Amino acid sequence: MKHILLLATLFFIAMVTQAAAQNNRISAKGYALFSKDGQFTPHEFDRHAVGDNDVLIQILYAGICHSDLHHARAEWREETYPMVPGHEIAGRVVKTGDKVTKFKVGDYAGVGCLVNSCGKCEHCQKGEEQYCDKRVLTYAAKDIFHDNELTQGGYSSNIVLSEKFAIKIPENAPLEKVAPLFCAGITTYSPLKFTHVQQGDRVAIAGFGGLGHMAVQYAVALGAEVTVFDITENKRQDALNMGVVKYVNVRNAEELKGLDNSFRVIISTIPAKYDPAMYLGMLQLDGEMVVLGLPARENVPSIDIGTLIWKARRKIYGSQIGGIPETQEMLEYSVAHDIYPRVEIIPIQKLDEAYAKVLAGEVKFRYVIDMSTLQ
Ligand code: NDP
Ligand code: ZN
Repeated sequence: MKHILLLATLFFIAMVTQAAAQNNRISAKGYALFSKDGQFTPHEFDRHAVGDNDVLIQILYAGICHSDLHHARAEWREETYPMVPGHEIAGRVVKTGDKVTKFKVGDYAGVGCLVNSCGKCEHCQKGEEQYCDKRVLTYAAKDIFHDNELTQGGYSSNIVLSEKFAIKIPENAPLEKVAPLFCAGITTYSPLKFTHVQQGDRVAIAGFGGLGHMAVQYAVALGAEVTVFDITENKRQDALNMGVVKYVNVRNAEELKGLDNSFRVIISTIPAKYDPAMYLGMLQLDGEMVVLGLPARENVPSIDIGTLIWKARRKIYGSQIGGIPETQEMLEYSVAHDIYPRVEIIPIQKLDEAYAKVLAGEVKFRYVIDMSTLQ
């Protein structure tokens, strides 16, 4: 009898605790896709409660990254829906957990591609949380720290995450331009730093879109001599205005001549099929090509390993975003040097149209959703 009473009591406590936890869940609304070929639809959902080390951020602006399109259309892998994309987030802290020290209510904060990681492995210890096996991506990921619930991203009213993964935004920074820095900014800043690009280096940026135009601005600021490769004429003048020495339209064979052995660093942000061997041939001896763009599965380019011998001692490898300390550093560097994306602000109702225009190459250079339009 005693056992039954004890079990009943424990069951009751468990139910009450669960109910309390449910009650503390945070209501959110946003725009979601319900299938890979669907349209964006208003969607109400909830997020996990604000834990002791968490902050609740009211989202003010969210950028549209080409990765959002790849995810939304399940171009990289099978996905789970409903999906609220968005990992370029800027907003204001509206609630803090009891143990939060980095933020107070009213502070501006940003979120990129990561919302959590184990905190213990060698990558986390080094501040390179993006390479932690247990990292949790901002959306379309299982949150192993919160009952495996599916994370939902920034095309929404708010987000809850560990304060460690929220970036402090200075008071005077233009929030709508800061949002894309948390993916497009850090993903390009990081390789320019770890390849030690400096004054006079010859650097090429392939793909002059959201990421590419950030890479160009950082590389120019570091004193590099920058060449851009893209497939269109209508961005030539923009590249020259940003300080590049040469703009190459790869669709014009004449412009590709005489570029072999030219660059110490090439950064590829191309989201479509292309020929990596062509770029490898343009590297100087001991040069390196950092691949950032990840096309859809059926379009992923490959490289003949023979090319690696004929064009020996040229490296080609990938890089993912950047860690949290480096993201904070990138933001401070960008604000100090007045380096921001060129953005077009859109209401959230225009998401489908915006996706079509990103694919058609019609955005200069990043769409950013004004979240006050979310009713
Ligand atoms: P955008 O669509 O904004 O930019 C891509 C640019 O590449 C456009 O200017 C496009 O031209 C150009 N382009 C397309 N095909 C070619 C080609 N064959 N040769 C040269 N240029 C070409 O995309 P984002 O900058 O937002 O993202 C780029 C890629 O980077 C995506 O695959 C994305 O998923 C990936 N990414 C990777 C990250 C990482 O951590 N590694 C992080 C974030 C993004 P046009 O506009 O004329 O079509
Ligand atoms: Zn991104």
